[in-house]
Amino acid sequence: MSERIAAAVWVKPKRRFAFCSAVAAVLVVAVVAFVSVMSGASSAAPAKRRPHQTGAGNSGMSQADINARVSALINQMTVQEKFGQLTMAGPATPTGSDLIPLAEKGEIGSVLDLTGADNINAVQKAAVEDSPLHIPLIFGLDVIHGYRTMFPVPLAEASSWDMGAIENDESISADEATADGIKWTFNPMVDIARDPRWGRVVEGAGEDPYLGAAVAAAKVRGYQGSSYADPDKMAATIKHFAAYGAPVAGREYNTVDMSTQQLFNDYLPPYKAAVDAGAATVMSSFNSLDGVPNTANPYTLTTILRDEWGFGGTVVSDYQAVQELEDFGYAANGAQAAQEALTAGLDIEMAVTLGPTPGNPIYDTFETYGPKLLREGKITMAQLNTAVRHVLTLKYLAGMFSDPYPGSDARVASSELTPAHLAAEQTMADESMVLLNNNNHALPLSPSTSSIAVVGPLADDPLDQIGDDVPIGYDETPADLTTTDKIVPVLDGIKAADPTANVTYAQGCDTTCTNTSGFAAAVSAAQSSAVTVVVVGEPSSDAGEASSLSRIGLPGQQLALVQAIAATGKPYVVVLMTGRPLTIPWLANNAPAMLDAWYPGTEGGNAVADILFGKFDPSGKLTMSWPIDTGQIPVSYNELPTGRPYSATNKYTSRYLDIPNTPQYAFGYGLSYTTFSISNLQAPSSVSANRPFQVSATIQNTGSMAGADVVQLYLHESDTSILQPVRKLEGFQRVELAPGESKMVTFTLGAQNLGFYNEQGQFVTEPGPFDLWVGDSSVGGQHTTFTLQ
Ligand code: BGC
Repeated sequence: MSERIAAAVWVKPKRRFAFCSAVAAVLVVAVVAFVSVMSGASSAAPAKRRPHQTGAGNSGMSQADINARVSALINQMTVQEKFGQLTMAGPATPTGSDLIPLAEKGEIGSVLDLTGADNINAVQKAAVEDSPLHIPLIFGLDVIHGYRTMFPVPLAEASSWDMGAIENDESISADEATADGIKWTFNPMVDIARDPRWGRVVEGAGEDPYLGAAVAAAKVRGYQGSSYADPDKMAATIKHFAAYGAPVAGREYNTVDMSTQQLFNDYLPPYKAAVDAGAATVMSSFNSLDGVPNTANPYTLTTILRDEWGFGGTVVSDYQAVQELEDFGYAANGAQAAQEALTAGLDIEMAVTLGPTPGNPIYDTFETYGPKLLREGKITMAQLNTAVRHVLTLKYLAGMFSDPYPGSDARVASSELTPAHLAAEQTMADESMVLLNNNNHALPLSPSTSSIAVVGPLADDPLDQIGDDVPIGYDETPADLTTTDKIVPVLDGIKAADPTANVTYAQGCDTTCTNTSGFAAAVSAAQSSAVTVVVVGEPSSDAGEASSLSRIGLPGQQLALVQAIAATGKPYVVVLMTGRPLTIPWLANNAPAMLDAWYPGTEGGNAVADILFGKFDPSGKLTMSWPIDTGQIPVSYNELPTGRPYSATNKYTSRYLDIPNTPQYAFGYGLSYTTFSISNLQAPSSVSANRPFQVSATIQNTGSMAGADVVQLYLHESDTSILQPVRKLEGFQRVELAPGESKMVTFTLGAQNLGFYNEQGQFVTEPGPFDLWVGDSSVGGQHTTFTLQ
C-alpha cells in the first residue's frame, strides 16, 4: 500500500510526462489475458433516464441511428473488448507508442495525457485500422484554462462575471485542443469552495452556487457548442462529483461530510447546471461523502445523477481512484473495488497503465477483475453493456467514428496563439483583475511616468504567470516561454505601455523568498524611481491539485520586501499574483494601491499594464471571500443566521474575540477607477411562486472614465422551515457604462430563486417575508422587502 502511494500518488497533471517516464522505467506494461465471452443482448437505459442527446445533431446521425449502431457493436464485442472500452490509459512515453499494441487489441477505450497530433493519430490508427472492431479511441486531457493560449486561471475568469467571455474562452480552448486531436476535456471543475487553504480553489468559480452554476453552464456551452462532433468542439466533463470542494480543514483529498440540505443548496447546483447544459461526461470525485467514497457511491452516481437529474452521458473515475477504494479500506481488494465502482454507476476507469505485475502498483481493476466478476454474477452483463453503451455513445457524439483524426499539424499551425485568441485572452485578463485597494487615487499611473522600478519575484516570471494546469509545451526555457509561447510578463507589459520610461527591474527575491540578499537592489531601484510596482504572490505550484496550505499569507519574506519598498517613502503599488484568497492584513491596511491580477495568462503583462496605466478600468469582483486570518476559515458571505448574531459590544454573540467576523474583502467586492451609483430599486411588495416577477434598479457611472460594474441581487427569506442564508445571490448583470451614462437593470425572478432544497433534497418554496438587496457587492446595497404569498 505504501509502495503504491510512493509510486503512484501524486503527480501534477502539468508535468506528468516526467512521472510517466520515471515510472515506465520500472513498470512493465502487461496485458492480462481474458476469457473471451461473447456478449448477450445489449441493455437499454432504464426508463427514467433520458438518452444523452447533446450533439447528435451534427454528428451526422440521429440519436436513433446512434443507438442502433451502438447496439450492433455491443452485440459483436467480446467481454474483453467491452472492458477495454471502460479503460482509460495514459502513455508511459511522450509519444504514446506503448499504447499502440493495446489499441490494436481493443484493450483501451480512451487515452489521457497524450498530446501532439502525430502521436495521437498514430495511436488512433492502431485502434481504427487494426483493432478487431475498428472502434476509435477518444483522447482526453485537462484543458482547464487554455491549451496553447493560456487564459487566466478559472477563479480569475469567474471574477469577470462575464459569462459570454468565459464561454468564448472555452470555445477557443476547444479549437486549439481539437487541432491537436484532443476531443475531451476534463473540465469544467465546478466544485464550490469556501476554504482557501485548499489549493484547488484556483480551478473553480468560488464560493457561490448561483454564480458557480452560471459559470459551469457557460463553460459547457463553450467547449461543446451545439455539437461536440464539430471538429473544433470537444466533450466537457463536470468534475469532481460531488462536493469535492469541501474537504475537512481544506486538506486535499480529505473527507467531506455534510447535511443533505447543504449538499443540495450549496454544492450541487453547479453540477446540475452543467448537466442541464448538456455536459457529455461527469468525473466522480476522490473524496468520500458522508462515509462513502464517491468513486463507488450509488447515491451520487446513480440516484442523484442519473435517476433524479436524468444524466445519460458517461461517468469517468478520477485518476486511479478505483484502486483507491482499497486504500480507503472500503474494498477488500481490487476485485471488490471494481465491483463496487461498476455497480455504483461508474463507466470508465481512469488508470495509468494496464495489468498488475510485480513492481507495477498501478493497474486497471476493470479489465483485470471484470470478466471474473461477470462469471461469478457479481456484476451483470446488463450493467456491463450499459457502461459500454455510454462510452460508445460518447464517441459517436464526439464524432470519433465519422472523423477519428480531427487533429493535424496544419490545424495546429493555424489555430494556436492566433491574434484573435490572444486578444480574447487579454480581454479576459483585463476583466478578471480585482482592484483591492486604491487610496487617494494611487492608481492609475500616468502613461508618461518618467521612471518606474519593477520589483518582486513575479514581475518577470512567465511560467508562474500562466498558473498551474498547463497542458503542453510549457516546460521550456524562459526564452521559449516569451517567444514560442508568447507569454508577456509584467515587466515587458509595463515597458511596452510606457516606452519612454526609465524602467529598472530588481527581482528582490524568488517566490520562496527565503534569501533576502536582493532586497538592497530592489530598495535602491525604488529610491531612484518615481514609482515602484511590486509584484508579489504565490508560485503557481502552490495553487492547484495537492497544494493545500495551512498558512495562506505571502510566502517567505515577500511581505518584508514590500515593507522595505514602503519604507523608502516613495510611491508604490502592489500587484498580487495568486490562485487563492490570501491573508494579507498588513497590505490591506497599508498598500496605497493593490491589484489582484491572479495568474493572468499569456497576455498577463499587457493586461496588468492596461490597468496600471488606466487604459482599462478595473471591473473584476471577488467570487471568494478573502479572510483576514486563516482562523476565520471557512468564511463565505452566504452563511446561515445564528440566534446570537454578531455584536461588537456583546461578548455573548457569535464572534471572535480577536478579529471581526467579516472577511478582509467580501464576495462581490472590487473597486473601479470610476464611480457608480445604484438607485431607484423597484420590486413588488407581494409575489407568488408560480408567477415570475421583475425587480429593477438604475445604475449610473458617476465618474469620469468608462467602466463596467457588476450589479448583484441578493435575497434572504425568514420564517422558513430550514434557516436560509443571511444573503444569497440570485441575479447579476455586468454593465458597461460611459461616463455619466445610466442604465436600468431588470432581473426576472421566479420559484427557482425563491425556493430551497429541504432536508430530503426536495426543492420547495415556502411563503414568508423576504429581504432583497441590489448593489455591487455582497455588503450593503439598495434594500427592500417583499412577501412570498
Ligand atoms: C485530478 C483530475 C484530473 C485527472 C486527470 C486528477 O488527479 O483530480 O481533476 O482530471 O487527474 O489529469
